[in-house]
Formats: sequence, C-alpha cells, structure tokens
Amino acid sequence: SKETILQVDKRCLFITNMAFANFVTAAVDSADPRIKGSCMVILEETDPGVFDRGSPARKLVHQLSSTRDPIFSQRVPASRIIGGYTVKDGVIVPRYSHGEILEAVFRRTRVTVGLMTSAKLLSAVEPVIRYHRGRFRGGETAEPGTPRYELGLQMKEDVLHRLVEVWATGEAGASLGFAAARLFDELDPLERYRDEVFAQEGIRGTAALKAMRRYQKEALDYLQHGVDCDKPMVRFMVLDSLANVLCPACKLWNTGHGANMMREAVSLMGGYGITEDCPGFLGYKWMDAQLEATYEGPEAVQRRQLSVTMANDLFLAQFHGWIAEMREIASNRPGTGACTLATAMQLWLWTLNHLQKATDPDGSKLYSSSRQGVTFPLADALCWLLASRYQILDLLELAEKGPSNPVVAEGLPGLLGFLTDLCHVQSARAAGEAGRICAELIFGYHRHPAWDAEGLEGCYRAEELIALENMVPGLSSVVTDLVAPDGTHPSKAGPCARFDGLEQFMRLRNRLDGCLTGAHLAKERAAEALTKVMIP
Ligand SMILES: Cc1cc2nc3c(=O)[nH]c(=O)nc-3n(C[C@H](O)[C@H](O)[C@H](O)COP(=O)(O)OP(=O)(O)OC[C@H]3O[C@@H](n4cnc5c(N)ncnc54)[C@H](O)[C@@H]3O)c2cc1C
Repeated sequence: SKETILQVDKRCLFITNMAFANFVTAAVDSADPRIKGSCMVILEETDPGVFDRGSPARKLVHQLSSTRDPIFSQRVPASRIIGGYTVKDGVIVPRYSHGEILEAVFRRTRVTVGLMTSAKLLSAVEPVIRYHRGRFRGGETAEPGTPRYELGLQMKEDVLHRLVEVWATGEAGASLGFAAARLFDELDPLERYRDEVFAQEGIRGTAALKAMRRYQKEALDYLQHGVDCDKPMVRFMVLDSLANVLCPACKLWNTGHGANMMREAVSLMGGYGITEDCPGFLGYKWMDAQLEATYEGPEAVQRRQLSVTMANDLFLAQFHGWIAEMREIASNRPGTGACTLATAMQLWLWTLNHLQKATDPDGSKLYSSSRQGVTFPLADALCWLLASRYQILDLLELAEKGPSNPVVAEGLPGLLGFLTDLCHVQSARAAGEAGRICAELIFGYHRHPAWDAEGLEGCYRAEELIALENMVPGLSSVVTDLVAPDGTHPSKAGPCARFDGLEQFMRLRNRLDGCLTGAHLAKERAAEALTKVMIP
C-alpha cells in the first residue's frame, strides 16, 4: 500500500538548461536486485536530498544556453519512473529501459538539430556575398562602376565556386531535414495506432517482435511485388524503416559535413571570419555546428544506427525504387543531375550487396558491426545520396507549387534555373563521394599482389608473350606485367591487381565518372548567378 521510494544518485556532465531547470529526467540503473534493468526517472527540485545545479561548463559553443555539470542525490517515489513499472516477484520492472525512452525522444529532436546546422549554412550566404562585393571599395583603384568596385572578390572564380558549394550543401541539408520532419509527422499517428493495437491484444516482448516480422513480410510484398495493401500496420512498417534511416542520416550529414562546410564559409571571409566582429557570426556558427554534430549522440552513434537500418530490406526496397524514380525525373529535368545520382545509387547498392557477402583475405566477414571501417563509410556515402535526392524532390515541389505562391511566383523561372544548377552541383559532389567510398571499400580489402610465386603466376613471361603476339597481334602493347627470362620485372608495387568478379562494379564506376558530364558547367552558371543576386 505504500509506494516504493528510490534513492537516486547521479553526477552528470554537460546538462543543457540546468541553471534554471526545476526538474530533470535522469537515466539510471541499479546494482540492487530489487530493480531490474535501467530506466528514466524524473527528479524534482523539491524532492528531499541534493539537487545541486553544479558549476557551469566552460564551453566554447551555444553561448546563449546554460550548460552545467549537476549532482543529484534524492529520494523519489517509484511512480517517477517514466512509462511506469510492474512488480514481479518483489522486483521493480520498469516498462521502458532508459535507452527506449531516449530513442523515442531523440528520434524526433535529432532532426531539428540537423536543420539547425543547415540554417547556419544558408545564413552564411548573404554575409559572404556582401563581404566579397565590398572587399576593394574604399581603395584607390576601385572606382564606382568598375568590376573591382561592384564585384570585388566576386571577380574571382574560386570564391564563387566555393560559395556555390556552401549554398548547395545548405539546401540539400534543409531538404533532407524537412523530409525527415514531415515523415515523423506522418509516422506519429501510425506509431500510436501500433501501440494501441499491441496493447489491446496484449502483445509485447518477443510476441511483439514476432508480429512485427509478420508485418515486415507483408510490407516487403507490398513494396517489391506491388501487392495491394492499405493496412495501417504495413504503412507503419514502411515509413518506420525510412524514418530509421532519415533521422540518423540527417543528424550525421547535416551536422558533420555541415560543420566542414561552415569552415569553408568562415574561410571565405578571410581574417574577418575568425573574429568576433564577423558579420553573421560565422566563426561562432562553425563551432556551434561542431556541437550539433556531437550532442544528442555523436557521429559514431548515428553511423552505428545507420549500419543496421540501411541494411533493412524494407528500406532497401524503397531505395531500389528511387533509382528508377531519379532516372524518370532526369528525363524531364536533365539539368538536376538526377541521372548522375541514380547511377551513384546503383553503385552504392551494388557495393552494399557485395560487402554483405564478401570476406577479407583472412576469411572474416566485411559487413559486421565490429567492422566500422566498412559500415561507417558506407553509411556516410548513403547520406550524401539521400540529401541530394531530397534536394531534387524539393525542386520539383517548388516547380509545381511555386506559381501559386506569391512569395516566389515572380521570377520563378530564374530561381528554378539557379536551384536546378545547385542540385546538379550537389548530385555530382554526392556521386563523387559515393564513388570514392565504394571503390575504396570494394578494392581496399583485397591484398595487393606481390612479386612472389602467386603474383608471378598471373604475369606474362617474355617468351610466352612473343608466341601469343602471333595469335593476338598488339597484345604486348597492353601487357604491363612482363617478366624477363632473368626474372626481372617492372619496377612497381607488384603485378597489377585483378578485378575478377568485380567487372560489373568497374562498369558502373566508369559510367558514374561519365555521368559527371556537365556538372561543372552547372557550377559555372550558379557562380555567375551569385555575381548578380541582389542582396538588401
Ligand atoms: C554544450 C553541451 C550540452 C549538452 N547537453 C546535454 C544534455 O542536456 N543532456 C545530456 O544528457 N547530455 C548533454 N550533452 C552531452 C552530449 O550529448 C555528449 O557529449 C555527446 O553525446 C557525446 O558523448 P561523449 O561526450 O561521452 O563523447 P564520447 O562518447 O566519449 O565520444 C568521443 C568520440 O568517440 C566516438 N565514439 C563514441 N562511441 C563510439 C563507438 N561506439 N564507436 C565508435 N566511435 C565512438 C564519438 O563519435 C566521438 O568522436 C551536452 C554536451 C555539450 C557539449
């Protein structure tokens, strides 16, 4: 009849809003056998014991928010366990572990963090243009009306091209982030529906996992074979598999790559960029972007999650469909680079399939959770592709809805042209990154042949080549690994690596390089537009 009281002791590092919080949610576990597993528990300022807000963290970032290292030692009723608990054989069993609660929250809030960094990038564009235009004004040689006066540093190609990349990254990140946010809006009611169904039917634990597997199969049939299905649970499974990828992808790419691009923006402001007076506070934003890449789970946490969720069949079935979707878009809007992206997506998918089966020279599996050197880069490559895809989809949305929107209707063709070029720039960059990463992974785990007995087996001997030349004229002109009668061989690391079984990859990779055709022309057009864009 009396409620159990928990003694909670916790010392924390870096807690946001702690200077004025009057309650906290603390992740805790216990060595006491009367409590099972971990949980989240609410501690209030007025609970008996110590609620010490601690000293301020001496952070370099997010200067307007409070971050402290608090200490708690309080007695709270067990009803403060978030999600409630049951008592089994005298043991308190929390309904949700701390991880489950955190995941439910972070799934939503990480998307917002990703968007915060993209907003920083987009906000950097105007101060950079203003700085570049005015760079030489006031000097003796810059007379009003001359290019030096009107354009300043914008006369130089490099600053324009770099700013185009900053802008394109901001657009792509915003598109990915808002797509993820919209997806969660759609997913929320379906998730609640699932919880209600499971609660009504008393399904939980392993029974819930079993039920989910059944729905997963139905959802896969729906995606792969077009089996008609309007069941909310199937819809939930499809969207959930996507959300499980988009959330970490947005958090990882927008903040991690975004922080790199913020450095570019700072760099474009010269010495000014690293002063407190820099217009747009770009130096602060650069550092803040680094925090955004770290808190609510650093990059490795997002990559770990992606390593699992991107290999889910439901996600992959959708991804597969997007390749055709991008080709279709490209046939109507070739300037978007959607075709380039489609080829890069094909290459990524091929690489994932290959790596899931491949082993290293010692026979160990390549695609496994401990092999972060394989799974993490592949997750990074996927993020590039996703961001670019959503940027292209947003362009289509603008083309369709723009004419009826008074804010953008005027001058829409010009805006669409510019944003199309940004899409192309971004898709080429994404394809380049994905191509590089995939090639490194595909070839990087093969041992390079050496000038040993095994390596020499695949080489031509001089006398053998003379004989073959009679049958295949010109053969000697393409042979690189020729061993002379005295055993001497070309001076290099070893016989060239062979690509047996990887021919399809090689073809795709070659095709991808060719697909970059026109990307720099798009960048030049976008750069030209930057010299004309009006700033208030
Ligand atoms: C200003 C600020 C405010 C914060 N506010 C809050 C708050 O309100 N509440 C709260 O709970 N926390 C808060 N934090 C903490 C923040 O969430 C953590 O700092 C962040 O999650 C990173 O954890 P960590 O510092 O322990 O880094 P670590 O986990 O030590 O990471 C160090 C490095 O190791 C890598 N790494 C970590 N794990 C792995 C792995 N399994 N595999 C490979 N690499 C790995 C990381 O990517 C990183 O590069 C805040 C932090 C700061 C700086």
